[in-house]
Amino acid sequence: MKHILAALALASALIPAEAGVPEVVAHRGYHRAPGSAENSIRALVKADSIGAEKCEFDVWISADDVLYVNHNADVDGVIIETATSETLDNCKLKNGESVPRLDAFLDTAKTLDIELVFEMKPHKDRSREDVAMVKAIKMVADKGLTERTSYITFSRNAFDIMVRDSGRPVLYLNGVSPQVLKEIGGTGADYHINVFRKNPDWIKQLHAQGMPVNIWTVDSEADIQWCIDHGADLITTNEPELAQRLIAKAYAPRELKVMSYNLRFGELASMERLAKEIKEADPDFVALQEVDVNSFRTAAKFNNGINFVNELAQRTGLFGFFGRTLNFSVKDGYYGVAILSKHPAVKVETFELPNPKAVEQRVLLRGEFLLDGHKPFVFASTHFDYTSPETQELQARYVLGKLDTGIPAVLGGDFNCEASSPAIKLLSEDGAVLSGSNPTFPAKAPEKRLDHIFGFPKAAFRLESTREGTASPYAASDHLPVISVIETDFRK
Ligand code: MG
Repeated sequence: MKHILAALALASALIPAEAGVPEVVAHRGYHRAPGSAENSIRALVKADSIGAEKCEFDVWISADDVLYVNHNADVDGVIIETATSETLDNCKLKNGESVPRLDAFLDTAKTLDIELVFEMKPHKDRSREDVAMVKAIKMVADKGLTERTSYITFSRNAFDIMVRDSGRPVLYLNGVSPQVLKEIGGTGADYHINVFRKNPDWIKQLHAQGMPVNIWTVDSEADIQWCIDHGADLITTNEPELAQRLIAKAYAPRELKVMSYNLRFGELASMERLAKEIKEADPDFVALQEVDVNSFRTAAKFNNGINFVNELAQRTGLFGFFGRTLNFSVKDGYYGVAILSKHPAVKVETFELPNPKAVEQRVLLRGEFLLDGHKPFVFASTHFDYTSPETQELQARYVLGKLDTGIPAVLGGDFNCEASSPAIKLLSEDGAVLSGSNPTFPAKAPEKRLDHIFGFPKAAFRLESTREGTASPYAASDHLPVISVIETDFRK
């Protein structure tokens, strides 16, 4: 649920992500495990033992108001709805267990970590569902399991009671449109895979409304992979271990090459030379600073009137995104920061950084990207104030807020300050330091380390290697570029 909540929290800030790492819902428990059976207590324990995030189970009420866990309306011909507990307690599952009372099932759940997906089955006499739901919600609460339980059902009657009384996520099993689902008070969709295959846009529409997507019942490798590739938040399956393996493979730690480079507004090198340098580094993402667009400077004679971002993107074959800090020199002339990316963007935004002393305005350019078609990733570029450590610290704090999104985020920039400064201390404490300590400025004979790369959250990143460009009187900028190879763990 962690990633779904993160995606919901993000809804106002970023386009809701194709949420993140999907969770596995063991359908009727892990009933294909040895000694197990559908909806047995053993199946619940086995689902927990393999680390499935959730266990789905089905609930009926007997004629004498006792709740039972079972899928079918009957057990060996004994209709639960019309039988009494005296009869039902003697009914056996295929593994020899008695048909579990909900009470016993929940008592076992209390001793485990797994979350519960409670399905109320549609009863012939719908008024029995009312009694069952009221009893069930109270029983879940009495056992301290409210926070670990979500509800699903095909019955519109039971659904309305769940929405009214549970205070928990309620996912509808009938494949209604996202619009209708919202109108009736559902908090998410739990639909058959064919519903989503027929309506592929629904997943995006549900995410846009902050609603999680659960897909059932997917057992083949092809179907499970389809769910992963299409951004399912929850995968309901009779093959939880297969789903776990495929998810682990899809979200295996991934190597990325990231770069940060202050271009000194093109004073010292042509776009051709700068593009060559970037292209040779072969980065996934580049954070650029001091980027001119269409502006004119007497100092930058190679590059007057050029849109640096378009030019570099075209020459490197990367996507280019610009964040304006200032209008500069001519109408439609701008100065700012930029991002180059190998990966397509979902959304790119510019944020003005705190500027209490009303000096030159600074910005954060933050992009949300999709890696390998399905993994959300944030990359950002910034260029801090150079006049005051207090302002830099404020800017660092602000940037941290903008990168705390529940999605792995890398920030590259010219921070105009060194490791001992309050701003860099703050960023290093909160995030993973993904660059080195060699000086980067001035490029001809470097003395200061002003260019840094950080990753958030800290646990999701590991620095494999890092280097700086070569110091030279003929360097292409007054800063050396910083190039790091990092590993991102999407499951942290
Ligand atoms: Mg079910």
